[in-house]
Amino acid sequence: MTITQEPKTLQEAIIHFSNMDNCIAYMVERRWPDGIVKCPTCGSDNVKYLAKRRVWQCKTRHAKCQFSVKVGTIMEDSPIGLDKWLMTMWMIANCRNGVSSYEISRSIAVTQKSAWFMLHRVREAMKITGDAPKLGGVGKIVQTDETVIGGDPKNWHESRREKNLKESRSKRVQVYNNTYGHKIAVQGLYDVDTRQIRAKVVPNVRRDTLQKEILEKIEWGSTLHTDEAVAYKSLKDKFVHETVNHAVSYVKGNVTTNSLESFWSLLKRNLRGTYVCVEPFHLDRYLDEQMFRFNNRVKVTDAQRLSRMTQQVVGRRLTYAALTGKDAQAAGKF
Ligand SMILES: [Zn+2]
Repeated sequence: MTITQEPKTLQEAIIHFSNMDNCIAYMVERRWPDGIVKCPTCGSDNVKYLAKRRVWQCKTRHAKCQFSVKVGTIMEDSPIGLDKWLMTMWMIANCRNGVSSYEISRSIAVTQKSAWFMLHRVREAMKITGDAPKLGGVGKIVQTDETVIGGDPKNWHESRREKNLKESRSKRVQVYNNTYGHKIAVQGLYDVDTRQIRAKVVPNVRRDTLQKEILEKIEWGSTLHTDEAVAYKSLKDKFVHETVNHAVSYVKGNVTTNSLESFWSLLKRNLRGTYVCVEPFHLDRYLDEQMFRFNNRVKVTDAQRLSRMTQQVVGRRLTYAALTGKDAQAAGKF
């Protein structure tokens, strides 16, 4: 297979990826950068490309000895063509405000349900893995902040409000639930030097919860910039801790959490605009998506962003059952 010319713009991508052989060549270059195609089942490189069927045949005898470039990636078992997958990935990688499953559905002519499932699988590829390097270091600044996301109970359907009242044990819990209980807390850490962000849904904003993330993801000895929330007190033995009092101002000297504030506002705008109703259960996946674009925004071209994403599709799976708790067959075929 010859080295392909990388498409640089949306228009070039549409033309380039309308050819299935271009799509396969693009994925092969990213999946097997040394050019040696290996069988995903047994690892053997003794394979033959069957050009007519666009699959490889492994010479070792075992089940699933024929494989496409999709096997062993987020696209495994998907009947949707690689051309549509690559266009979807281009859109989600490069649209700053995200794309909805309705937009994908109309753009590549698949059902909204299929588009929804595709987008969630692409988000799986955008996820930051557990072995990602820690943030900060001695003399390096890491901002930390948290926010809450969620609708207003006054917009809830009556039945949902009643359900909350019925299920809550005491008057106090009812009042709390109607004010805060439906909201989801998100904690963010931002490395000022590398401009990398880590954000995740946390069960609450109590001191031990927030500090656990900080201790796990930030190098000891880093300088922490936070607001004056009490949750961040008592970190002085492991970090240099500087605070800014948000009641007074958002910047004190070089102490600020403004980068996280702008991430929060971007996230909230997207949740409100593009992703009108996001189940709390899936919020982590939208965070993964937002983080991928945020972490790959400085000096990264659209083509490079797609390339990075496609390199991350290998070795990751997200089945319909894992995503929804339902069987794909029962829910209708994709
Ligand atoms: Zn094999």
